[in-house]
Parts: sequence; C-alpha cells; structure tokens
Amino acid sequence: MAVRVEVAVAVVVKLPIDTLSLFSYTFFSMFDLTGKKALVTGGSRGIGRGIALALAKQGADVAVNYHRNAEEAQKVVAEILALGREAFSVQADVSDLATVSRMFAEIKSKWGKLDILVNNAGILQFKPFDQITAVDWDAMLNTNLRGQFFCAQEAARLMAQGGRIVNIASISSGGVGIASPMIAHYTASKGGVVGMTEALALELAPKGINVNAIAPGGIETDMTKGALVDEKARQGIIAAIPKGRLGRPEDIGAAAAFLASDEAEYITGVVLYVDGGWLAA
Ligand code: NAP
Repeated sequence: MAVRVEVAVAVVVKLPIDTLSLFSYTFFSMFDLTGKKALVTGGSRGIGRGIALALAKQGADVAVNYHRNAEEAQKVVAEILALGREAFSVQADVSDLATVSRMFAEIKSKWGKLDILVNNAGILQFKPFDQITAVDWDAMLNTNLRGQFFCAQEAARLMAQGGRIVNIASISSGGVGIASPMIAHYTASKGGVVGMTEALALELAPKGINVNAIAPGGIETDMTKGALVDEKARQGIIAAIPKGRLGRPEDIGAAAAFLASDEAEYITGVVLYVDGGWLAA
C-alpha cells in the first residue's frame, strides 16, 4: 500500500522515489500490524467494532467474538474482509469458561498463534446498591472481570513469540478514575480490571507480552444510549468533557491500535484514559 502510494505520488508530482521513501516511512510504517492475528471480544458492536476495524485498517487479521449477535458480528467480518484482511466471527460467552476454551481452540486451529487480544466484551446495569442481587453481581463480575482474566490466560498460551493484551476498563473504575451512583457492581468490576492489568503486566513482561488497559470516558454506543436519551442529561455530560463531545468507538480503536503496535513495546501495566479530558477537568 505504502509503495503504491509512493509511486503514484512520485509520478504526479515528479519527485524522486528516495524523497518519498522518507515520507512513506513516516506516514505509513508506524503502528503497522500487518500479519498480526488479533481477537477482539465483543467485536460485534460499539467500541469492540471500532477496535476490530482500527486493527484491521492497520493490517491485522481479526477474529470477531460475539455473544448473541451473530448477524452484527458477520457485518463487521464483511467490513474487515473488504479491507483485504482475514476475518471470521467466533461465538463465546466470556463469562462461560467452556465457551471461552472452545473459542481459543478455534483460533489455535485456524492460526496456531495469537498476537493481540483486546478484552472488550462487557455489560452495564444501573441499579441502586441495595437492589443489586447476587445474580446481578455474579453476571457483572463474571463477564467484565473473570471473562477478561480467563481470556488473557488462554491468549498468553498462544503468544509464544510475545504479544499484546489490551483490557477495556472504564473511567468508572474508582481509584484515579471516577465513581458514580447506581453502578457499584460495574465500578467494582472495572476497578478489578485495572488491578489485574498491572498484575498481569508484571508476570507477562518476561514473556514479551505487554498488558495495558484503556479506560474510555463516555462513548456513544448501545450500552450508553439509555443514559443519553434524555437531552438535558446528555448536555450535562458533554459540558463536563473539555473536548466538548462524547467519544466515538473509533477514538478507542485508535488507542487500541497504538497499544497493539511495535511502537508501544516499552509500554506495559498502564491505564490509558481516552475520555476527552473528562478526568482532568
Ligand atoms: P455495547 O455496545 O453494549 O457492546 C457490548 C459488546 O460486548 C457486544 O459486542 C456484545 O456482544 C459483547 N458482549 C456482552 N456480553 C458478552 C459476553 N458475555 N460474552 C461475549 N461478548 C459479550 O458496549 P460498548 O459500549 O461497546 O462497551 C464495550 C466495552 O467498553 C465494555 O467493556 C464497556 O464496559 C466498556 N466501556 C464502555 C463505555 C461507554 O461509554 N460505552 C465507557 C467505558 C467503558 P453481542 O453483540 O453478541 O451481544
């Protein structure tokens, strides 16, 4: 791609190819994921879709995991195939270890390895603290935290040559993040993701596997549309964001592509807040 663009530009503007090599190196070689094999959990919609497309645009082949939405996952696969990359959809409920093992067995038989795991699948539920049941708690923690842990464990076994694990946390993780009412179990799960990310980064650094987290702010997806339907509430949130807008899935996709790249080789155990400045305000 870079070479084709370089030659085309050289012909049009009559510049020596050598001059343009520097140009193409600068603009086309960074964050190159060509040949990398990636799995994005919850890749069928929202942020996961944005991440799957961003990785594919940088050259990666992508396995698109979904839970129930086979049709949406297939649409993402079609978009990735149209970019000239390899892609397939793979069903698994990340809270169910048997289906997680089956998903990784499928990846192993197709690719024999994995270079990038993005632990994105997650759920959100709004409930007052005293109405959260044990069933609610288990569903939240098993999906958002246990699911990420066991996907990371399976992925690391396929990363003999090193790799990248990117866990999707949240600005709503407590600690240096924020806490909000009505989502105590969600906040606990995402706080756990932050701690787990740091712990895994230490254990996996000697194996050449970098483990980082992205903490999105308010991103417009199916997950947040209920909370954003009231225009006054929506404008209140936007007013708190220095960048003056809600986030988009592609904002998180760009951050994930960076953390997955060779250029991020010295970055591990960090949480990257992608929130339009919300936390700093
Ligand atoms: P979304 O639009 O609701 O999409 C959720 C995705 O996760 C879907 O692809 C869904 O698959 C998948 N999923 C849900 N439960 C699953 C399970 N048990 N096993 C496998 N896949 C499952 O959510 P989103 O806004 O894109 O959120 C993605 C991630 O970002 C989540 O971890 C969320 O906590 C985090 N996050 C979001 C925001 C935000 O403002 N949106 C902010 C901070 C953090 P199906 O399509 O098959 O149902």
